[in-house]
Amino acid sequence: MKPTIIIGGGIVGLFSAYFLQKEGIEVTIIDRTDMAENCSTGNAGMIVPSHIIPLSAPGMISKGISWMFSSKSPFYIHPRLDYKLLQWSLLFFRAANEKQVAKAIPFLKNLGLLSKSLYLNFREEHPEVALALQEKGLMMVYKTDAVEKEEVEFAHLARKYGLEAEILSPQDIQKVEPNLEVKAKGAVLFPGDAHLNPSALYSFLKTYLTEKGVRFHTNTEVLGFEKSGTKVTAVLTDQGKLEAEKVLLCGGSWSGELAKMLNFSLPMMGGKGYSFIQENQPEIKQATILTEMKVAVSPYGNKVRFGGTLEIAGTNQKINMNRVKGIFESINRYYPDFQAKFPSENQIWKGLRPCSPDGLPYIGFAPGYSNVLVGSGHGMMGVSLAPATGKILAELHLQKDTSLLISGFEVGRYA
Ligand SMILES: Cc1cc2nc3c(=O)[nH]c(=O)nc-3n(C[C@H](O)[C@H](O)[C@H](O)COP(=O)(O)OP(=O)(O)OC[C@H]3O[C@@H](n4cnc5c(N)ncnc54)[C@H](O)[C@@H]3O)c2cc1C
Repeated sequence: MKPTIIIGGGIVGLFSAYFLQKEGIEVTIIDRTDMAENCSTGNAGMIVPSHIIPLSAPGMISKGISWMFSSKSPFYIHPRLDYKLLQWSLLFFRAANEKQVAKAIPFLKNLGLLSKSLYLNFREEHPEVALALQEKGLMMVYKTDAVEKEEVEFAHLARKYGLEAEILSPQDIQKVEPNLEVKAKGAVLFPGDAHLNPSALYSFLKTYLTEKGVRFHTNTEVLGFEKSGTKVTAVLTDQGKLEAEKVLLCGGSWSGELAKMLNFSLPMMGGKGYSFIQENQPEIKQATILTEMKVAVSPYGNKVRFGGTLEIAGTNQKINMNRVKGIFESINRYYPDFQAKFPSENQIWKGLRPCSPDGLPYIGFAPGYSNVLVGSGHGMMGVSLAPATGKILAELHLQKDTSLLISGFEVGRYA
C-alpha cells in the first residue's frame, strides 16, 4: 500500500498527520527544511475562537494605506512591481467589504470553536506534553478613543455570535495584571481564548508522530508531481520520486507554488512577522494584544514572548530591524515598568504567515483532483485552527461527512 504524502511539516501538516494516523492511515511527511524552525515554532501561540473577522476587513484598507508610510507600523505592503503581489492585492481589496466579512464570520467562528475543543481533548489525551495551554482568555488593551470604539463594537458583535466578551476599565485591567502598571484606556477580555507554547507543541507532535510510525523526509524539496487522470500518483523531489496514494498540500506560504505545479491557482502571500523572548520582569500574567500596535504578548511564567508586525513579503525572510523596533517600542508604551532589553538579531524569530487574500483558509479537495487535499492559508491563526483543519482533512480523506460545513474554505475559489 502506498502512503498518503503530506507536503509541509508545519503545524497544519503535523495535525493532519495526527488525525490520519489515528485512523490507521500510513503517512509520510516531506519538508524541504530540517523542521527545526518554521512559521509554526516561534509564533505567539494564541488559540483564538474570538478572531472571527478575517484580515481583509474594510478598515484594514485605510489603516494599511496610512501605515504604509511608517517603517515601524503593524501592517505593511512594500509597494513593488510584482505580478503576484498585484493580483493578491486586488483580490484582498475586493474581499474587504461588509458582505464578504459577514459571510466569513460563521465559518471562522465554527472552525475556531472546533479547534479549541480539539485542543482540550488533545491535552486530556496527552497530559505528558508540556503544552502550557493556559485557558486564561485573551485581553485586547487599547489606549485611544478610535481603537476603543472599534474594540467595543467588536465585543458586541462577538456576543451577538454567542462568544463571551467582557469590557474592562483600567481598574479591572490592573486586577487581571497585578504586578505592573498597564497604561491603557480599557480592554476587552475574551475568556474563551487561550494560549500555549508553540515550540513545545511542535516538538511533541514531531516525536509523537515518529513513534506512531509516521515517516519524515526532511531536507527534501518537492519539485513536481506525476499524474494520471484526476490523480497524483507520485511526488517528485530533489531526493527522488515517492509514490503516493493521496497527497495533502500543507506548504504554508509556499502552497501557491505547489498549486501551480498542479495547474491551479491558490493566491498566497507570506505575511512576515517577528517575535522575541524577554525575562518576564515584572511578571506579566495575561495573554494580551496591544491593539494599536497589533503586538501579541504571550507569558510563560518567568518568560514572555512579544510578537507582531505583518509585512506582505512574498517569501522573503530577511529580518527588518526597524519593524522589530516597532514591536520593542510598544512594550514600554503599554507597560512602562517592564524591563525590556532590545534583542540582538540572532535572538529574533521570524515567520511567514500564509495569507490568502480573503483571510479564509483553503481546506478541501484541490480543483480537478480526486486524491489531492489542501490545508493552507491560515494567516494569523494557523496554530489556532490547525487541529480542526487536520481533523476535517482526515474526514475528507476517509470520505466521511465533515464535522463542519466547509464551503467557505473552498480551495478552488480563485482557480
Ligand atoms: C509573529 C507571528 C505570530 C503569530 N501568532 C500566532 C498566534 O498567536 N496564533 C496562531 O494561531 N497563529 C499565529 N501565527 C500564525 C501561524 O504561525 C501560522 O499560521 C502557522 O504557523 C502556519 O502553519 P503552516 O503549517 O500552514 O505553515 P508553515 O509552518 O510555514 O509550514 C509549511 C512547511 O511547508 C514546507 N514546504 C513548503 N514548500 C515546500 C516544498 N516545495 N517542498 C517541501 N516542503 C515545503 C516548509 O518548509 C514549511 O516547513 C503567527 C505568526 C507570526 C509570524
